[in-house]
Amino acid sequence: MEKELRRLLNKCVRCGTCRSECPILAEVGFEGASPRGLIFLLQGLLSGQVAAKKMADRVYNCLLCDACTAVCPSGVEITNLIRTSRMELGRIPAFGPLLKLALNMFLTRPTLVAAGSRLLWAYQRSGLDRALRNTGILRILPGDLGRAEHMLPPLSIRTARGMLPELIPAVGKRRYRVGYFLGCATNLLYPQVAQALVRVLAANGCEVVIPKEMRCCGIPHLTYGLVDTYAELVQSNLQVFKEAKVDAIISDCASCTATLSQMGKQPLGCNADLPWDEAAKMAKKVWDFSAFLVDELGPNRIKRDLAGKVTYHDPCHLARGVHVTRQPRHLLGKLGLELVEMPNADVCCGAAGTFALAHYDLSMAILKKKIDGVGRTGAPLVATSCPACIMQLTAGVKAYGVPAKVIHPAELAAQAY
Ligand code: SF4
Ligand code: SF4
Repeated sequence: MEKELRRLLNKCVRCGTCRSECPILAEVGFEGASPRGLIFLLQGLLSGQVAAKKMADRVYNCLLCDACTAVCPSGVEITNLIRTSRMELGRIPAFGPLLKLALNMFLTRPTLVAAGSRLLWAYQRSGLDRALRNTGILRILPGDLGRAEHMLPPLSIRTARGMLPELIPAVGKRRYRVGYFLGCATNLLYPQVAQALVRVLAANGCEVVIPKEMRCCGIPHLTYGLVDTYAELVQSNLQVFKEAKVDAIISDCASCTATLSQMGKQPLGCNADLPWDEAAKMAKKVWDFSAFLVDELGPNRIKRDLAGKVTYHDPCHLARGVHVTRQPRHLLGKLGLELVEMPNADVCCGAAGTFALAHYDLSMAILKKKIDGVGRTGAPLVATSCPACIMQLTAGVKAYGVPAKVIHPAELAAQAY
């Protein structure tokens, strides 16, 4: 592992091309926070010249947005190396073992996640959230959790899983049997997205299966270096989709789509004995919702045209993870909407999963630039294919006073079917 890590790090020729793309460097402005600086520090860590203690904050000060990796002329997989270093360090700043426990024991169990969601619903519904916010007591929470708490959208008492049956028949003649990968964020935060997606797929001749035993895709575990838990989740989801006998696996979450598309790739430092070849075959069945609708189904059964302007934000994991940028735009046009491009549509919005929970100010500064771009389009709708981006952009338009609604393309498509 160490030898392989050294080989991968040594591919860097220090050209600095990656520096121009890094949203973090653009904000903080010092080399140590740049992708090249991180590679340099990781080399130092490996040779024992840099103390591990010094590194933990640095390697978590990254959005894992892949913008650097996408432009590196030497093919350095910067984001993967940063993830591997998180695993090697084994320490999560600000949250420590508590977060590890939550990721390993809680997020891997759908029933516990649903119970947690009900507690949060009660917390919001009772008004306790506003009361605690006003007292300022939330500041005692670790990291920036207390400051970022307001970004949580109003929850529904029922999750998407609770609202939808396990099998939804196709409308008319069945063309495909698809598995819907109902990710944690859509399930808990945006059940209306799940309902819309299922409706559009069924209207386009898909029988939709939502397997009960499906678990988290594992991206939070990869992000925090918990590769063994990630491998356990891959194995479990692989089995679930094998048994479901589906032609395709559809996801409405950019992060789940990118993670599942890579499920056959054994992460560096992971020694789990898994059928990775089988997982690679399953990964080929994974589709983003818009890509499946546009490239495979053909969105031709639209019943009514929508009208008005829309702008589109490219989630990092969709644009650079699976190279899906054309299809959501094509879909919006097909629905009758006028697409107005925002500047830097593919630059990270600062969400990056849980980034704001430990780096609130930095996340907001990156978000501000994104919202400035949204405002310049004058579009009343911002479409994006990721629940984390929806949450971040919704907080952004509210905070910076831009009159726009953030929405998933599936929700717009459902209005037209
Ligand atoms: S672009 Fe690639 S080779 Fe150049 S400094 Fe960045 S990581 Fe190194
Ligand atoms: S992944 Fe994004 S935030 Fe992290 S170093 Fe690369 S460009 Fe910067």
